[in-house]
Amino acid sequence: MSNSVETSQIVPQLIGGTWSVPSVATYTNVYNPSTGAVIAHTPMAGADTVDAAVQAASRAFESWSKLPVPKRADILFRYRTLLEANSEALARLITRENGKTLEEARGDVRRGFEVVEFACGIAHLSKGESLAQVAPHIDGQTLREPLGVCAGISPYNFPAMVPMWMFPLAIACGNTFILKPSEKVPLTAVRLAELFQEAGLPDGVFNVIHGGREVVDALCVHPGIKAISFVGSSTVAKHVYALGSAHGKRVQAGGGAKNALVVMPDADPDSTLRAIMGSAFGCAGQRCMAGSLLMGVGSVNKALHERLNATLDAIRIGDTSADDTVDMGPVIDDLAQNRLDNVILQAEQKGIHIARDGRKNRPEQGFFVGPTLFDGITPDAHLFQEELFGPLLSMVHPKTLDEAIGWLNRLNFGNGAVIFTSSGAAARQFSQEINCGMVGVNVGVPAPMSLFPFAGWNDSFYGDLHMQGTEGVQFYTRQRVVLSRWDSSYHRQMGW
Ligand code: NAD
Repeated sequence: MSNSVETSQIVPQLIGGTWSVPSVATYTNVYNPSTGAVIAHTPMAGADTVDAAVQAASRAFESWSKLPVPKRADILFRYRTLLEANSEALARLITRENGKTLEEARGDVRRGFEVVEFACGIAHLSKGESLAQVAPHIDGQTLREPLGVCAGISPYNFPAMVPMWMFPLAIACGNTFILKPSEKVPLTAVRLAELFQEAGLPDGVFNVIHGGREVVDALCVHPGIKAISFVGSSTVAKHVYALGSAHGKRVQAGGGAKNALVVMPDADPDSTLRAIMGSAFGCAGQRCMAGSLLMGVGSVNKALHERLNATLDAIRIGDTSADDTVDMGPVIDDLAQNRLDNVILQAEQKGIHIARDGRKNRPEQGFFVGPTLFDGITPDAHLFQEELFGPLLSMVHPKTLDEAIGWLNRLNFGNGAVIFTSSGAAARQFSQEINCGMVGVNVGVPAPMSLFPFAGWNDSFYGDLHMQGTEGVQFYTRQRVVLSRWDSSYHRQMGW
């Protein structure tokens, strides 16, 4: 945080179609995590900014919600074309402010882009139902209607995809939207909003404001906001869910996770190894679907350990903003780096076997933590239970699949779990017995595409309706039921 900064480096906000630089007391540094250089400053706004954005979004709702659905879809189609044309530049921007590799950043954009494509079908998606003759001469019909002003609060790890789980569908449904991106990665959100304006979105339909807890709390309590979509850590998700719900809003709040990769002795060794590498160390482990527990069942452990270590020897860590070919980038900031270093230090002090130490052989500049392997972790350990959110993988040794499932089902989180096997029976048992919402069978990161809900359970999600897919449409609309009685006996009687 800083108090005085260069005006040209302040991240602008968008309210009612106008970009401006707010004057605030504090700013958060936006870094290039690969170098540690400060590249921008995020203004930490307050409740007055929220109020201004709500006023603008409420005014825009009057006309946007009445625009015929195909006209709304036209703008989404234009947005889709612009996103496609700008996808490489967006990916490079993500790499610069988040630090993930260019290939990972391309995936971040692609996944968000797919939600816009899904939202282009809003005319079909938001159709209601009807049933003739539910009672004598009475027909029933449901209509899906927008809610009003909706707000989205997003984390730093997916600067494009996570905001795009939210605003394209909300806006397609006829709502207006206020996005509060992570103060650590606000630049991608700014570019996404500029492109939406270019696509012809009317002023005030999409607004972007910046800040932290003060702004989030103001969004949760503002009477002009009807629904809140949140993604971030479980502690904040729970807080936003409780505060927003207490103030009469619909809330969907995705939280943290602890995901396991269970490897059966009959798993295909090569594809399993590739999937483990991508899941545990992709995006430097900063994914809510990252596999952070590696559970080789029975005899498979030794070979798995040896092959994993050999593969990690070859991994190239470095400046993702200067080199498109590095395999793994930095973590987001010095706070994350220090926190992860501390996790490794504590493990060392407890005598845990550190088969690979990410504090060693890392670039000196920037916020790097190398791939780290803990071995022999048991289900009562902190490393088993807590989300670490970095490239730290804990190897656990269950004797049987039943034992692995039993241990995993004690976790409080419930985002993802993966099994690698050639056995349909093992896959079926795992898919049906594991206590979480997104299961992978021979898929390292079972994050659903835009057609499906992002379906976390337990402390990984608070609310009823998830983001994406038809659940997203349900979340951003409310149903009106119309019962109509039209009795033809009167005009018949009159001889008409
Ligand atoms: P975070 O919880 O620190 O921040 C998320 C958002 O909440 C940010 O916009 C931030 O400004 C705001 N915020 C932070 N502290 C707050 C507070 N005390 N009160 C109100 N608002 C506050 O999360 P992060 O570090 O940006 O992101 C990493 C976390 O997000 C991880 O736990 C990860 O698992 C989770 N995540 C979850 C999903 C999912 O779908 N479940 C997806 C991506 C990331």
